This record gives sequence, C-alpha cells and structure tokens, in this order.
Amino acid sequence: MTNALRALDIDLHLHSQTNARAHEDRGPLTLVRGDGVHVVDESGRRYIEGMAGLWCASLGFEEARLAEVAARQMRTLATYHTFNHRTNDACVALAEAISAISPISGGRIFFANSGSEANDTMVKLAWYYNAARGRPEKRKIISRTGAFHGSTVMGAALSGLPHMHRAFNLPDQGVVFTACPNHARHAEPGESQEDYATRLAAELEALIQAEGADSIAAMIAEPVMGAGGVILPPETYFPKIQAVLARYDILLLADEVICGFGRTGNWFGSQTFGFLPDMMSMAKGLSSGAIPIAAVALSDRIYQAIADQSAEIGVFGHGFTYSGHPVSAAVATEAIRIYHEIDVVGRARRLGAHLRAALDEALAGHPLVGEIRSVGLLAGIGLTADPATGRDFDPALRVGAQVERRCLAHGAIIRNMGDNIALCPPYVIEPGQIDALVERLRAALDDVADTLSRDSLA
Ligand code: PMP
Repeated sequence: MTNALRALDIDLHLHSQTNARAHEDRGPLTLVRGDGVHVVDESGRRYIEGMAGLWCASLGFEEARLAEVAARQMRTLATYHTFNHRTNDACVALAEAISAISPISGGRIFFANSGSEANDTMVKLAWYYNAARGRPEKRKIISRTGAFHGSTVMGAALSGLPHMHRAFNLPDQGVVFTACPNHARHAEPGESQEDYATRLAAELEALIQAEGADSIAAMIAEPVMGAGGVILPPETYFPKIQAVLARYDILLLADEVICGFGRTGNWFGSQTFGFLPDMMSMAKGLSSGAIPIAAVALSDRIYQAIADQSAEIGVFGHGFTYSGHPVSAAVATEAIRIYHEIDVVGRARRLGAHLRAALDEALAGHPLVGEIRSVGLLAGIGLTADPATGRDFDPALRVGAQVERRCLAHGAIIRNMGDNIALCPPYVIEPGQIDALVERLRAALDDVADTLSRDSLA
C-alpha cells in the first residue's frame, strides 16, 4: 500500500471494532494476499492466521475453486433476487447442500448476508411464528451474558457483552439475560460440571417464571461462546436447558455462525453439545468466509405456521435484496463440496487433537496460563496472574492485548478477548503449521511474562 493510501485509510475509513483515535496514530495493518493458512502484509511479512480471519476462512485465504465458481456464476447470472417466487439454480443447490447436513430435517432454508442478519431473521421468524398461531404477546428473547450475536440493532441487543450496548442506548428489544455457562469461572467451590449445569437450568426456569412464559418466544445460544472467550458448556448443559424450554413452549435458536461447518468436530455445534434447535443461523464457514452469505435453517413446525399465513398477518414480510444471491450461493455450495471431499468433520477432530496436545505440551506450567479449553479445531486459553489460584490480571495491564501484539511480531495472528486467547485456524492447516503456531504463541507469552516481571521489579 502506498503512503497515500495509508493516509486515506486514516482519513476516510471508519474501521469496525477499532479504537479510531489510536488508528490515527498507528495506521492500518494492510494484508495484501493469502496463501493457504498464511496471510501476507504489505511489507512481505507472512503470518500464520490462527483465527481464520474472524473465525471464518475455513479453507484458508486463497482457494482457486471458489474463485472459479464465482467467476462462472458471474458470467451466467451475476445477480438476482428471490422475492415473489423468483429463484436461481445456485441457491437451490445450496439449500439442498445445507439440508443434507442439517440436523433440522424437513423444514426450510432462508438466506441472508451476514450472521447478524441471520440472527435477526431467527428472531423475526420466532415473532412471526407466534403471531401466526395467535400468541403475539409471546415475544421476549432470552440470551446469555457473554454472548455475541452480531452488530445490527437486534444482534447487538442479543449480545451480552457490555461494549456492544454501552453508549448505543439500544431500544428495548425485550431481551432478557441468563447466565453464561462458564464452569471454571462461575461454579461454586466443589460444584461438579453436572451440578453446575443443573443449577443453570434451574436459574433459567426461575427466570422464565419471573418473566412469565407467555411473554417469551425463544432462547438464543451459541453452542460454544466465541467472542465471549471460547466458553465450552458442561456436557449436560444444553440437554437440560432444552428440556426446560420445551416445558414452557419456548423455541431454542442455535447461533452456529462460528460452530457450523465442522468447527467443533461435527457439522454443527448443536450435535457436539447434544441438542436439537428449532432454528439455527449460519454464516462465516458457510462460504469459508470468501463471500458474504448467511442462512437460517428452520424446522417444519415453524415453516408450516409461516406457510399458513392468516389474512390478518399477511404475507411473510421479510427478506433481503441479496437473499439467495447466485454468486454467493455458488461459492458456498462449492465450499461445502470441498468440506465433504476433505472430510472436514474428521479433519477438525484429528487436527483439533493435535492442537490440544501441542497446547498442553507447550503451555502447561507457563506462568501466565490458566485454563486451556478446546473442542474440535477451536481453542481458548485463559490467562491468569497466578496459575495456582486462577487470580485475574488487573485489566488495566491489558495482558491479553499484549500477547496478541507479541504474536504478531512472531508471525502469528491470534485473538485476545480480554485475558482470553482464541485459536480457530483454517481446516487446511497442517500439523507442522499447528506446531509453529503454538510455538509462536509460546514465544509471545514468554515475552509478555518477561515484561511483566521486569515491570514488577521496577
Ligand atoms: N454470531 C456469532 C456467534 C458471531 O461470532 C458473529 C460474528 N463474529 C455473528 C453472529 C455476527 O456475524 P456478522 O459479523 O457476519 O454479522
């Protein structure tokens, strides 16, 4: 990138989720190309991308087959909408490819462009479903502290992360929050995973009773909380939660935006964590992040209510210009074809086991490392000021952010969420590259440990 373009990035571009004033000083990190699991910046530095971008580039950063299908579709039918009975071959093929792997059988697939839109859609479908069956007052949505469900008004309202709410003063969307299932952090001393899950289910039931089941439409949950810090629920958490919701006629919506397409060692996170949602949203890995597209799979029960639209409710008034966009759909269908060819589920399990072993070996006993969590090819590492007691660092030290920066210097991209480190590499990573990623993370942790001990001596 020329200096002129760098200056324009600072002068013209408001970045997502970025400290704008700091950006004026620091300027951008400009990525110019990708190869496999690597991305390359403008100075030619190569980084192992340990986060698949934003948890999305499952097949890495250049995949010729995706480029070819996109170009072919652009030359055939570059764009068309799906309003008013219109369709195209590409989006039907994609609906078939998703249905073939979806645990929700017999329903329908709705298309959108982003994870946020897909989650908004699930909420609107839940509202429409209840209106259609004469229960319009059943509207509230239960979400969880620590959840991330997107950046649209509803996506942010559903998110249980303070910075998504602070300063926006979002309109009251009728979202109520229940606890984040983080055993390591929130269980009582000596409380087993099982007892903790039972307690959270009881807390959920108490919340439903306090709010009134007749006022609640659905609960939304990521099988593994991603942006909240890669939080894995206890094994029996979701079955217990699902049983409570079923008792009160409340839908369960799975946000599979991160977990979908193999990440947790099954096609969908709900399969790994033992529940069957009424709807699930997917995005990111749906197209390997190569083109914007998202989808919602909805159950037959919800579809039938929509299809039976009554005169007073009227036509299903929802959908986007680019719902079922042929180019995006063609790319996503090809990505899913590749996932089958590389046995993405088996691959995530095998590589995930390798990643876990490498993390355990390299980081066990490290003075900054507390808990290591992983499922499939997804891992979270909790940083701690004292591994013996699990004491937190003073947030002002921004230890996680320091580790992320030192990783970059060592040629690896990871992500810190506060003092949690996330790893979510592309599935095309090889075992040797996993080892290199973990070595670089270890070197970054060593650097930060040195700085902290120097500062404490100073
Ligand atoms: N849900 C989850 C679980 C996510 O991680 C994200 C994005 N990080 C979203 C929804 C929102 O997706 P998008 O940015 O495509 O709107």
